[in-house]
Amino acid sequence: MKQFWAGSSISKNKAMVEQLQRYGIIQSKKVAEAMESVDRALFAPDGSLAYEDSPMPIGFNATISAPHMHATCLQLLENNLQPGMHALDVGSGTGYLTACFAHLVGPQGRAIGVDHIPELVEMSIKNVEKSAAGPLLKDGSLALHVGDGREGWPEFAPYDAIHVGAAAPEIPKPLIDQLKPGGRLVIPVGNTFQELKVVDKNEDGSVKVCTETSVRYVPLTSREAQLRGY
Ligand code: SAH
Repeated sequence: MKQFWAGSSISKNKAMVEQLQRYGIIQSKKVAEAMESVDRALFAPDGSLAYEDSPMPIGFNATISAPHMHATCLQLLENNLQPGMHALDVGSGTGYLTACFAHLVGPQGRAIGVDHIPELVEMSIKNVEKSAAGPLLKDGSLALHVGDGREGWPEFAPYDAIHVGAAAPEIPKPLIDQLKPGGRLVIPVGNTFQELKVVDKNEDGSVKVCTETSVRYVPLTSREAQLRGY
């Protein structure tokens, strides 16, 4: 009997994107297209659960965020992820969101991921290589580095978009400094009680901070504290 496909990864990933659109979390074609192109199963530790809307442990006391959080952050940053722009993903973990950023800013742009766990960075590179963003890693417009993301990544600053995938006790100053005028930073702030903050830098260098929603992320901390279990 002929069978052209059976619950292929690609069709399940598309179904996940359609659900996010139905719930109004994905509102734009561009975000839908980026999440359709970058197959989440290549980044999730357990492929069979890859499309469920929940965070999943990835080792080293870290998690891959739930699809609705990835979609929310992509929506918030969409205007700052146009072709040719510079994006920084702090706490890049699996590399999923960095790959989506790279897809949006394209070969003329820069998408930089930074995580302080070398094993996770190594794993994220392998994930990206398998994904639709693989060629962007090869040509250097996407890069994943080991470092303390609280310091940002000055090499490609200033950034149009900065995303932080871990909750900071307060907004790290280097990240604000590395934001371009007109740039936007999306960062969870707090300890047990956390809020997703949107920081917009005005043309005169001043910043405006808004609260988007309450969230639950792992902390943005030192490598030692994270490996100790905080
Ligand atoms: N966006 C990622 C989230 C991973 S969880 C994903 O969905 O895959 C948060 C990540 O932040 C972890 O990988 C953790 O190692 C990293 N992290 C925490 N504190 C950090 C710091 N000071 N510098 C860099 N990375 C940090």
